[in-house]
Amino acid sequence: AKNYGKNNYQIYSPQLNIRSFKQYHLESDLRKSIENNELVIYFQPRIEATTGKIVSAESLIRWMHPIWGEVSPKEFIPIAEENGYINELGDWILKHVCLHLKKWEKEQLPIVPISVNISAQRFLKSDWKSVILEILASTQVNPELIEFEITETTMIQHEKVTKAAFQTIREMGIKIALDDFGTGYSSLSYISDYPIDTLKIDQTFIKQITKSTKEEVIIKSLIYMAKGLDMNVVAEGVETIEQLNFLKQQECQEIQGYIFSKPVPEKTFIALLKKQIIK
Ligand code: C2E
Ligand code: CA
Ligand code: CA
Ligand code: CA
Repeated sequence: AKNYGKNNYQIYSPQLNIRSFKQYHLESDLRKSIENNELVIYFQPRIEATTGKIVSAESLIRWMHPIWGEVSPKEFIPIAEENGYINELGDWILKHVCLHLKKWEKEQLPIVPISVNISAQRFLKSDWKSVILEILASTQVNPELIEFEITETTMIQHEKVTKAAFQTIREMGIKIALDDFGTGYSSLSYISDYPIDTLKIDQTFIKQITKSTKEEVIIKSLIYMAKGLDMNVVAEGVETIEQLNFLKQQECQEIQGYIFSKPVPEKTFIALLKKQIIK
């Protein structure tokens, strides 16, 4: 750690220092994570509320670091977004989700659409479109099996770019979900201007079910609005039976959360799909 001078030890508490030490190493190691085969894609099922069937899944990246162990994407995605590595990382993830889909198709496994988290930052660099087209062409994946998840907040941050990008993505046949919905303070009329297929209600609202009538009212109106706009609604972070029952009552279409399954490795996900054991 030669870049950490004596001064750092005087300014920061020991704990903070360990954190910055880790941050520093993660940042430099991240660029080697692809070639070192340290990245793994996990899948978390999305369940149809009325039937209990897996109708889709979200892909979630995991970094198996040789020293730090499993590093959370909450920790390294922000680093990648800051140092610009997010584009290369995001392209790798999309490509590998497509490769998984193709492999499952070849093995004649039951396939469901997979959603992929995309940083809106990707659309700021003009090569994004050709990269996606190249991935679709080389893997021969049906674009209808892919949905991009873009957070409401970043959509608003890059308003002009995302609006045009969404249109292009739709034309490619890829679906669009608005992630962490309800946290970005966008108005309803504003949302209706964008070509959006799915609204994912943020976990913070779901956690308040049976605890706060205010949040329950917000959830009800989000579901009602999404239906009126002909969008699919997914509730994220559903953990309890009370939350599930409330969402069923409100006719929320899809449920994602620990109540059914955590994000799991490919093998486990395939086993779940085969059995459809999830109630
Ligand atoms: P997100 O897109 O909002 O993903 C949902 C997160 O909620 C996941 O955390 C998931 O494991 C977690 N989750 C799902 N159900 C429950 C539940 O019932 N209870 C609780 N407490 N948590 C639940 P994860 O996998 O740690 O990912 C965190 C964030 O990192 C994601 O939030 C997303 O913003 C980012 N991320 C993950 N994978 C990727 C990726 O491939 N690309 C990009 N750009 N970002 C990613
Ligand atoms: Ca997401
Ligand atoms: Ca989310
Ligand atoms: Ca989030």
